[in-house]
Amino acid sequence: VRAGFSEVEDEHGEMSGIITVLGDVTEQEEIERERREFVANVSHELRTPLTTMRSYLEALTDGSTWKDEQIAPKFLSVTQNETERMIRLVNDLLQLSKMDNKDYQLFKEQVNYIDFIHHVVDRFELNLKEEITIHRNLPDSNYYVWIDKDKVIQVLDNIISNAIKYSPEGGEILVEVVKRKHQLLTKITDQGVGIPEDNLEKIFNRFYRVDKARSRQLGGTGLGLAIAKELIEAHDGEVWADSEESKGTTITFRLPLMQEKRGHRS
Ligand code: ADP
Repeated sequence: VRAGFSEVEDEHGEMSGIITVLGDVTEQEEIERERREFVANVSHELRTPLTTMRSYLEALTDGSTWKDEQIAPKFLSVTQNETERMIRLVNDLLQLSKMDNKDYQLFKEQVNYIDFIHHVVDRFELNLKEEITIHRNLPDSNYYVWIDKDKVIQVLDNIISNAIKYSPEGGEILVEVVKRKHQLLTKITDQGVGIPEDNLEKIFNRFYRVDKARSRQLGGTGLGLAIAKELIEAHDGEVWADSEESKGTTITFRLPLMQEKRGHRS
């Protein structure tokens, strides 16, 4: 933008001087506005579960509701869920704040990616409470990547648990790895609610949700994909979404492939 202005400067020196200064101020203001918006979002996200808990606790302590064997366990379970969501939220915030820090370090190592994905999906299947099937379409070859395993597990956790969260009962999820020339693509496809086209990029922004109430109800924090994006970019990769409303969603990320090793799995 500046370069564009400097050409104008020869003819309209004074004017473009003003424009350049305004440009700087706007950039500063933008950062400041984002910061304010973030603080407002965090406060709001924390206040919502707190006020919910307060009303349920008030209802419980009012009269003898706490003795009611029907109502009391339900109300306690709501406050428990809200507490858990708040803990998740604060953990996500701490994670983002660590990543914002310049000294943030990844512990990368050489990893056999297909074995790694099998392992992660196995673990997911073991803990699956919902009526959902996970299918795999993974190559038979050994492909190596240079990654911080814990961080990529976190990325997969966030993306696969979204696929589960936004899927109907009995839904099917496909985990695929596709080899490109210098990249490995990992695709997670669900048959869930889908995402409207003009939201496809925004879902990677902090706190952005297509349906706030629904996300909260499902225990979401609105930070999972923002964290996934930062982690993948820290691995020189990229993440994006494709979706068709009420048909399903595919979240894809690519990671650089390490030089190919010989040999096949058998
Ligand atoms: P949340 O905790 O709300 O799930 P995320 O950052 O993980 O936050 O995702 C942001 C938003 O993107 C979600 O609130 C939801 O609207 C949308 N989204 C993410 N994954 C999916 C999916 N697989 N299907 C439909 N919508 C999704």
